[in-house]
Amino acid sequence: MTALPLPTTRDAALALDAADPLRGLRDQFEIPPGLIYLDGNSLGVLPRATAARVQQVVQDEWGRGLIGSWNQAGWMALPQRVGDKIARLVGAGAGQLVCADSTSVNLFKVLAAALAIAAADAPAARAIVSERSNFPTDLYIAEALARERGCTLELAEADELPARLARGGVAVLMLTHVNYRTGRMHDMAALSQAAHAAGALVIWDLAHSAGAVPVDLLRDGADFSVGCGYKYLNGGPGAPAFVWAHPRHADRFWQPLAGWMGHAAPFEFNPGYRPAVGISRYLCGTPAVLAMSALECGVDSVLAAEAFGGMAALRAKSLALTDSFAGLVAARCGGHGLRLVSPQAAAQRGSQVCLARDEGAYAIVQALIARGVVGDFRAGDGAALPDILRFGFTPLYTRFVDAWDAVEHLRQVLASGEWHEPRFNQRHAVT
Ligand SMILES: *Cc1c(COP(=O)(O)O)cnc(C)c1O
Repeated sequence: MTALPLPTTRDAALALDAADPLRGLRDQFEIPPGLIYLDGNSLGVLPRATAARVQQVVQDEWGRGLIGSWNQAGWMALPQRVGDKIARLVGAGAGQLVCADSTSVNLFKVLAAALAIAAADAPAARAIVSERSNFPTDLYIAEALARERGCTLELAEADELPARLARGGVAVLMLTHVNYRTGRMHDMAALSQAAHAAGALVIWDLAHSAGAVPVDLLRDGADFSVGCGYKYLNGGPGAPAFVWAHPRHADRFWQPLAGWMGHAAPFEFNPGYRPAVGISRYLCGTPAVLAMSALECGVDSVLAAEAFGGMAALRAKSLALTDSFAGLVAARCGGHGLRLVSPQAAAQRGSQVCLARDEGAYAIVQALIARGVVGDFRAGDGAALPDILRFGFTPLYTRFVDAWDAVEHLRQVLASGEWHEPRFNQRHAVT
């Protein structure tokens, strides 16, 4: 897609919205009036359908149907049914992906499975390799499993990964497709190919990708994948996550959380474990029915874009939004010490814009929130990693005028110095 011209006035931004073929999708959501919500990469907004659906599940299916609803209301099949819908968004086949547990737990399952396969096929390879700035929970899970399995965890910078793979000894390459701090997107096909050429398996975490950027797990050579339900999939706080294994791996070995829902016949109550065929063995315990019903509404809100070009159309709008925002920040907020850390190149950019600032990043974000512009702050390490102001652009419901207004507020916050006020400098537990 050719880049849209940068809007030079607020009216020009409104005109872009009026011409946007996806504009009607915003009506699916309850967005508080006047709020500019640029944090759908942390917690997606509430679909209008969700409250009524959850109420129906509570009152009718639970309240009246009681235990019979496991069969009659299809509760048992929820992990597969919602999984099949998510599969359409990430290039997986029907029956290959299930919803369950959290991203962290699912990562544990697939990393354990991948290490077991590597131990059988390439026993000399003992390293799990990941990116130093990967999301910490992913690294913690890998650190714990590496200790348990007697493997090593090696962290590298993104640009060093191909060379590290080429040196050999890598069992599993475990990466997050879009980096949570920088918005940088890896080339899934190229890195998967490099991993396979080095005899390694590759796991892709799609937490910041599913529903935000086009993903094609089968085409691009992924071996395993996990992802998050409460970010761009709008599943609600703590929504169940998802897990996918390539069909050639799904039936090899068990994942270690061998609960009864992953059993071939859970209601035989057999004392011995017999794993279900395919991805269903990646289930562990009873599905969280209420949460999964809400997640289904969120996933449906993304699938609604299929009528307007689907993920390709969402991607085009996402790039236009992030281009607009970054371009307007450069044009209108110069001289205030902001540096763009998300990639300029569209091919390397997820659906967020990240700005670094040496001082005051947290307080600036707080001052913006007080004005009704919700982004978030991610702390640096006081050394190489800078403090970051993070703005997520969910193309399903974010408008060009939101990008325009957010930049205007940012300009005013910086020009007035209001972020110095003490109330903006008190740290809360969740940033
Ligand atoms: C959001 C996110 C998670 C969240 O994991 P939970 O188990 O749901 O807390 C994990 N990994 C990445 C890369 C994320 O962005």
